[in-house]
Amino acid sequence: MKHALITGGAGFIGSHLTERLLGAGYRVTIIDDLSTGRMANIAHLENHPQLRIAIEDIRNVNVMDRLVSECDLIFHLAAAVGVEKIISEPIATIEINIGGTEVVLQTARRYRKKVLVASTSEIYGKGTRFPFHEDDDRLMGPTTRSRWSYAASKAIDEFLALAYHKEVGLPVVIFRLFNTVGPRQTGQYGMVLPRFVKAALDGQPLRVYGDGAQSRCFGNVHDVVDAIQRLAESPDAVGQVFNIGTDEEVTIFELAERVKARAGSVSPIQFIPYDEAYEAGFEDFRRRVPSLERIAAVVDWKPSTALNETIDQIIAYYREEMQHGGNHP
Ligand code: UDP
Repeated sequence: MKHALITGGAGFIGSHLTERLLGAGYRVTIIDDLSTGRMANIAHLENHPQLRIAIEDIRNVNVMDRLVSECDLIFHLAAAVGVEKIISEPIATIEINIGGTEVVLQTARRYRKKVLVASTSEIYGKGTRFPFHEDDDRLMGPTTRSRWSYAASKAIDEFLALAYHKEVGLPVVIFRLFNTVGPRQTGQYGMVLPRFVKAALDGQPLRVYGDGAQSRCFGNVHDVVDAIQRLAESPDAVGQVFNIGTDEEVTIFELAERVKARAGSVSPIQFIPYDEAYEAGFEDFRRRVPSLERIAAVVDWKPSTALNETIDQIIAYYREEMQHGGNHP
């Protein structure tokens, strides 16, 4: 039986990965400081005999030393996430994303454990050639705009992980997550789809930032954790970087309309200028589309859930939460 350590395992994606790996017969240990993760995400798994949970910051080197020594492989998902959080807490974003990954990699090296490092599509920045391929150039905004600290911190994580692979032969795999959505995701840190669904069900306005013509590809979290597991189990993936997401593209305005229609909601759609939604001078991406060629070639994975189905899953999740008096943020 394989023993996985999942940093950030109480987060949205981490909790789905935990569930998947337990289902596949893994033992799982979670380390999570509950900064954005929530015990509610893993409450249904808490009594699983093969699950252990440590509530701790991954920069606690003594705890990490013990947990890494006891596991077979590490899924490193703990990080500061969400555009709004990144803008409002730039120090924590940089320090956690870089300092945390340093501890994970140093400890993994000590015990020679395989590490899968979560990265982000933000890495591509303002690239204008679509879809984004893993080896494309990156185009970043200025350091005076906080948003870019996230992409820069994750780029350092990638450099560091690849350096450990190159210099000391540590088995690492990097995966860049594009917009990932599904049940349990909170709108609290800025993510658009849970916000739209919650607003639609509450009869509140769906707030579209900018002109709504910007587009995204929203991958279903169940597909995403399937991809992560396949990468973990493939010796061919080691030392490489992979996009994970979907290439079904939708504008944010169309997303708002679809959510409204599928929820049977009468909420109005409101347009909010970027300066008001975020901060003066905020830079959004007009498009973001992954190339999925590499992951298809190496582990034979492609996304299988259409956006409408994902929207329905999220609507069902929030309806259930509301019925049970859940106070989902
Ligand atoms: N967005 C929006 N209303 C919201 C939150 C976000 O219109 O309440 C927009 C946001 O400006 C961006 C898109 O939706 O163009 C996706 O935002 P999200 O924060 O979910 O992901 P990211 O910006 O990281 O792609």
